[in-house]
Amino acid sequence: MSGLIIAVDGPAGTGKSSVSRGLARALRARYLDTGAMYRIVTLAVVRAGVDLADTPAIEVVAADVPLSVGYDPDEDKAYLDAEDVSREIRGDQVTKAVSAVSAVPAVRARLVGLQRELAEGPGSVVVEGRDIGTVVLPNADLKIFLTASAEKRARRRYDQNVAAGREDDYERVLADVKRRDHLDSTRPVSPLRAADDAVVVDTSDMTESEVVTHLTELAEQRAGASK
Ligand code: C5P
Repeated sequence: MSGLIIAVDGPAGTGKSSVSRGLARALRARYLDTGAMYRIVTLAVVRAGVDLADTPAIEVVAADVPLSVGYDPDEDKAYLDAEDVSREIRGDQVTKAVSAVSAVPAVRARLVGLQRELAEGPGSVVVEGRDIGTVVLPNADLKIFLTASAEKRARRRYDQNVAAGREDDYERVLADVKRRDHLDSTRPVSPLRAADDAVVVDTSDMTESEVVTHLTELAEQRAGASK
């Protein structure tokens, strides 16, 4: 199959990351994790000790963060300058701050430009994020928007936390999922929504491999149609 650009968007807890990696593997495509890019910039902002309400200071740090990410769905490659920060960007500190940093228009402008450059290249690419089908790659060949009920997403996060040995409270996780949904879908810059031409897939009652199989079929149909 040659050269499909596939956008995968949706909120956290829909299995978006695992499914996007699985799809890239099945198609032998490159994989681009745009969330990791927002996380690297956020790490630089956190390390600079910038107040998250200080937008101009965030802009200064974000303007020249030397960041790079990989294309391999089986390897988390995230660099801040020459430093491998792939673990640190998944930590609590960055996770708590990333919404504030990614709401800054100048941060988005820089990263969207970079994401468009990185999506170019040989073969197919699966680009995962929140605004890929709507803003970053509006001409993508296939746009997927994953959804799942707030309860299912909260249950998945709760189970992950417990499996990782962290104490948690399901009701608290559910309240947090609902709060983030509200913030993400009502923010003025790039609110989270499905593109008009996206295929919406509700993963509430599907296993990860069922979703990957379904998306692979959609991609193969799309590739057949564009031959
Ligand atoms: O996908 P992940 O949870 O790693 O993304 C981290 C955060 O980066 C999201 O919660 C969101 O605030 C932001 N993000 C974004 N636009 C994207 C990807 C991620 O605003 N395309």
